[in-house]
Amino acid sequence: MDKLIYLDNAATTSLGQEALEEMMPYLKENYSNPSSVYGFAQKGKKAVEDARGVIAAALGAKDREIYFTGGGSESDNWALKGVAAALQDKGKHIITSKIEHHAVLHTCGYLERQGYEVTYLDVDENGLVSPEAVEASIRPDTILISIMFANNEIGTIEPIEKIGEVASRHKVLFHTDAVQAFGHIPIDVEKMHIDLLSASGHKFHGPKGIGFLYIKDGVKLDSLIHGGAQERSRRAGTHNVPGIVGIGAAVQSAIQKMQANAEKETAIRDYAIDRILKEVPYARLNGDRTERLPNNINICFRFIEGESMLIMLDQKGICASSGSACTSGSLDPSHVLLAIGLPHEIAHGSLRMTLSEETTKEDMDYVIDSIKQIVERLRSMSPLYEDFVRSNQQ
Ligand SMILES: *Cc1c(COP(=O)(O)O)cnc(C)c1O
Repeated sequence: MDKLIYLDNAATTSLGQEALEEMMPYLKENYSNPSSVYGFAQKGKKAVEDARGVIAAALGAKDREIYFTGGGSESDNWALKGVAAALQDKGKHIITSKIEHHAVLHTCGYLERQGYEVTYLDVDENGLVSPEAVEASIRPDTILISIMFANNEIGTIEPIEKIGEVASRHKVLFHTDAVQAFGHIPIDVEKMHIDLLSASGHKFHGPKGIGFLYIKDGVKLDSLIHGGAQERSRRAGTHNVPGIVGIGAAVQSAIQKMQANAEKETAIRDYAIDRILKEVPYARLNGDRTERLPNNINICFRFIEGESMLIMLDQKGICASSGSACTSGSLDPSHVLLAIGLPHEIAHGSLRMTLSEETTKEDMDYVIDSIKQIVERLRSMSPLYEDFVRSNQQ
């Protein structure tokens, strides 16, 4: 088996050809610091500003509202810590959800240790945050609402426009972690009342270690990185010119291909989900059936450990991911799967497959056939499954 079937595009994506080609000159001959004054640095400076323009246009934002960062985690940290520090005299209450990425949740935990109060909203069985629940939890001292655009594990797309409307009506700042959404589904910061938005290059075929934070004009937040005058003195550090050029090229190409890719991926996603649910007994789809990222499949197989499944898929050249955090040294199942109400033992048997535009129906047929064999094999070794079958026969 030399073919690799890569179904972990929520973890990272391949670098696009256009991005690679545009980055190359800035990794080699044009190594200048774009903040320098001589002519040699001007090309890099222009390339940085061009990339900023492409990103702004993709969001319906102004160029000066885009700030380059070191990726999604930094953007999330900056949005939360920056607003918390800047608005602490107004209040110390933040609203978020239980299914956010750890870059948001662990930042909230840090802020709680600093004396802030955080409301972690429940989600429904499909992972949806209710705009009414957001509204009900707003207090006079609420300074920020942070709800992710789309979930990285179960693919659920949140009602961002409605939540933004609530935030704007109550004059509370609204941040969204759009790392899984940006470049994949349409976003309009104006229409959706978004004040702050995080995105990351490597989740849509750009390079790793580069992202941005959209900060709406007039929004106050403290700097996270102090130093030079880059990024309007709000985020110091010599520009990562190759990274910025790469993310710009990746955005351009993602926007151009967005609709076609989404249609293609959705068709293969739905084909795979239908086949698995029909052909594998005791399987359950996690996440909303329709309010779902085009490339996300997340399924629980009862009586099975996600980790064992991943190892056996790997032996067949298939890269996927599981919902449990065993790989990171913890035996706890995913906080997202627990938040949608799955019991521990079922949450442990989850499999996430995230497609790209390169994923074919033939790939998925091979993957599904492999899953069927693996599930059967693992269940045949499971005493729990044996007990279950026996008790069902009585
Ligand atoms: C990947 C991811 C992040 C972190 O982005 P990095 O660029 O890897 O730091 C944050 N939020 C979500 C939803 C993600 O999927």
